[in-house]
Amino acid sequence: MTTEVAAPMIKAAAVNKYFGDLHVLKEITLEVPRGQVVVVLGPSGSGKSTLCRAINRLEPINSGEIAVDGVALPAEGKALAALRADVGMVFQSFNLFAHKTILENVMLAPVKVRKTAGAEARKTAMELLERVGIANQADKYPAQLSGGQQQRVAIARALAMRPKVMLFDEPTSALDPEMVQEVLDVMTGLAKDGMTMLVVTHEMGFARRAADRVIFMADGEIVEDTTPEEFFTKPKSDRAKDFLGKIL
Ligand code: ADP
Ligand code: MG
Repeated sequence: MTTEVAAPMIKAAAVNKYFGDLHVLKEITLEVPRGQVVVVLGPSGSGKSTLCRAINRLEPINSGEIAVDGVALPAEGKALAALRADVGMVFQSFNLFAHKTILENVMLAPVKVRKTAGAEARKTAMELLERVGIANQADKYPAQLSGGQQQRVAIARALAMRPKVMLFDEPTSALDPEMVQEVLDVMTGLAKDGMTMLVVTHEMGFARRAADRVIFMADGEIVEDTTPEEFFTKPKSDRAKDFLGKIL
């Protein structure tokens, strides 16, 4: 009997990215297995956002390879749109459609991109709004919700596409402090449900509690790749020690 080894959910191999002369991602190699929660830490400008954007091809790369669930991401075209739908992304700014209701925001992409029938999209959207604790706001408009509620809607909207992977780029950085936890709670729930997640955050409590793995980036490189326990108690590199000294 042969044992099939599942492809990693996210795979980056020798990825390089330049903005002009600036080398922003330097030979990034990374494999994230199915169901793993990876927190990406690092100082501002280290390439964290660019890595997230490269993973779903919002940002073209100069060399290397990126694959999601064993399928290499093509540079463009229909195949790219389909694969990009497998990767849900949540940003610091929620980017909800201001003139659509919460329910409509969550239904939109499944109907337009996945061609899901309206009734089914509505049912799924309501289930997801329930899951992020906001079903009672379904008929309101984004501006009527708090920042924390809007970010939870943004998570529901990303989940509506039934992604295989969720990328979070500083999802709580724009929130008032009292709203941070409600968003982290939703993310922790997703992690417990087995979602594969890559999370850029400065929330060290979340990193310690929810991450299976911490990646520390500096100057476009992965400098440390270890467990949260190891990273926070025994950082190896001077750059990580310096970073932790500033934030803890
Ligand atoms: P981080 O998310 O870790 O703060 P980024 O990935 O946003 O870092 O940025 C990495 C580097 O790339 C920074 O030096 C930043 O100024 C630069 N950069 C990011 N986006 C662009 C862009 N569109 N054009 C030029 N430089 C960029
Ligand atoms: Mg960033």
